[in-house]
Amino acid sequence: MFFPISFVVSFLIIQIRVERFIYRRIKKIYDDVSILESSPLSSRPITTDMKTLTEEIEKFAQDKKIEIDTLKIREEYRKDFLGNVAHELKTPLFTVQGYILTLLDGALRDKKVREKYLERANKGVERLIYIVKDLDMITKLETGDLNLDKERFDIVELIKSVFDLLEMRATKKNIVLTFDMDYEQPIYVSADKEKIQQVITNLLVNSIKYGHNDGTTEVSVENLIKNKVIIRVTDNGEGIANEHIPRLFERFYRIDKSGSRKEGGSGLGLSIVKHIIEAHGEKIYVESEEDVGSEFSFTLEKAENNDS
Ligand code: ADP
Repeated sequence: MFFPISFVVSFLIIQIRVERFIYRRIKKIYDDVSILESSPLSSRPITTDMKTLTEEIEKFAQDKKIEIDTLKIREEYRKDFLGNVAHELKTPLFTVQGYILTLLDGALRDKKVREKYLERANKGVERLIYIVKDLDMITKLETGDLNLDKERFDIVELIKSVFDLLEMRATKKNIVLTFDMDYEQPIYVSADKEKIQQVITNLLVNSIKYGHNDGTTEVSVENLIKNKVIIRVTDNGEGIANEHIPRLFERFYRIDKSGSRKEGGSGLGLSIVKHIIEAHGEKIYVESEEDVGSEFSFTLEKAENNDS
């Protein structure tokens, strides 16, 4: 009698001890893992079922891997961004410093060069200012700090006003800024007017910068589908080779990387354009052929009460 009873008792004791041992081990794993987890695993009931446990740990590892990969990409992006910013600021800063040092070295006493050097230094400062403004804008767009202030406005009138603002610049290269036809009726859209003005300005400025002398930039506004219009900005300038097109809207992406670029921009113009259009939930397209010209187009939502 004694033998079977003591066998059963010892079996039960051993079983309970082993179970508790396993439970403690597993609990420790949960506790360790939940230090890293924002929504604690340990708040869930602890399972000693090996299949569920393995699945949970695998899922946890998978999530962590994704998180680490995202962090790595973000870190890369941050380093890239800082490197690019430093690089962009360096050139105009050194230019300004060069002129100031030359002036201090004695050029200040020479009436003829004095003004010229000051003007050039000022040009450098102007360039610094617009790079910083673009950086400020892109940072706000990328962190989502920039809220859209949608209103109903006439897109034709807005384009005309940008034509007027850029007329001087276009005239310097004898480039004509024009519509494809006479828009007699207003075309009302619903969007953030100031930001769309920035989009049109950036696209037109590019069409002038990368346009040939005596060229033409044509803008059209067409109905796309019932509630959308498409605005096209077409130039007959230098165009863009196919291999560059997929990367065109990246921050700081430029085709001509040489320091001898005639037309210095911040390299942020098109990425600002893309951000603004996407923030509106709209699309931007580009078609271009080298030595023939480029066409940038984007959609906007039509406002109600449009006669056209
Ligand atoms: P950037 O400040 O250099 O003009 P953008 O982001 O506005 O920067 O444009 C990126 C690059 O795309 C430019 O460096 C230029 O090479 C090319 N690009 C943009 N618009 C045009 C255009 N209308 N015609 C030809 N190339 C263009």
